[in-house]
Amino acid sequence: MIDLRSDTVTRPTGAMRVAMAAAPVGDDQYGDDPTANALQERVAALLGKEAALWLPTGTMANQVALRVFTRPGDDVVVGREAHAVWHETGGSGANAGVQLTEVGDGRPFTAGEFIAAIKPQGHGLYPPTTLVEIENTHNRLGGLIWPQHEVVAICAEARRRNIATFLDGARIWNVAAAGGDGVAALAAPFDLVAVSFSKGLGAPGGSMLAGSRDLVAACVRHRRMLGGAMRQIGIFCAAAMHALDHHVARLADDHDNAGLIARRLAQCRRIVLDPASVETNIVVFGLRGDGPDAHELVRLASESGVLVNALDRYKLRLVTHLDVSRDDCIAAGDRLSALANG
Ligand SMILES: *Cc1c(COP(=O)(O)O)cnc(C)c1O
Repeated sequence: MIDLRSDTVTRPTGAMRVAMAAAPVGDDQYGDDPTANALQERVAALLGKEAALWLPTGTMANQVALRVFTRPGDDVVVGREAHAVWHETGGSGANAGVQLTEVGDGRPFTAGEFIAAIKPQGHGLYPPTTLVEIENTHNRLGGLIWPQHEVVAICAEARRRNIATFLDGARIWNVAAAGGDGVAALAAPFDLVAVSFSKGLGAPGGSMLAGSRDLVAACVRHRRMLGGAMRQIGIFCAAAMHALDHHVARLADDHDNAGLIARRLAQCRRIVLDPASVETNIVVFGLRGDGPDAHELVRLASESGVLVNALDRYKLRLVTHLDVSRDDCIAAGDRLSALANG
């Protein structure tokens, strides 16, 4: 099977398993896990923040961010098709009691669109906008990269209005690998930043939140409250450490492979895709209505040994990662094109 459903499907490499087995560990609830402590310091430094905190998943990192920055009833501005809206099973409403306002249309929203969407604090009727969340890369919009000048402008406008800023940077490593700024520069405009080790970096689990010492201290409580405070997490942190050492530079290969698939798909007349829009390791493409729909294509592809996901009836997503080779990607692109053609 050529599994392109997500970059989360990777399994730890042999060398990663060796690192995990050898990791010194302790009870992280007492601050006693040396591997976790080392990783938290390393990631804080990498992201240019004072402190960082390990969390079991990116979803929990996002939920904790909502809890530290908002009060129930608040409004949070997010990008159209944000992970927060689609992939967290309604956690924002259940865990933080906030409403999400989606902004932008198939592309990153601008500072102007952000300002227009803000509901002022202290108004007699409006739910106050207290947080803006940016997802970079943006998953459901095809792994696209936010123009950093726009990010800087949005965060500056937010700060001026007492609105907190949060980066859902699950794939921020991909932005840096695509030739953008380094991760510290990408994180700099934000109060709090989430990163993931279990996407393109290939670790079996783990995310981190990074920010000021005070903010991270507040996150510790919410992590516990949501049930995410674990014990000998050094086993996971060793995998993340290994990934930072060995799997960051190779992300560029995933981007090349995504481009390779995209150029093949774009040649199919039933597929709607501009290969130039593929900036990182995610390819989102549309289908014209005169052939198999997305669910049908997912089924046909799986019968031919290629796994991809449908986003809706006419839209699909595939993701490249370290467990698929260049040849796999060429084969997958050709098979998907042929199947879409009927
Ligand atoms: C995967 C993902 C998350 C959540 O990470 P999990 O570890 O799967 O919970 C959050 N944000 C984005 C943009 C993601 O792609």
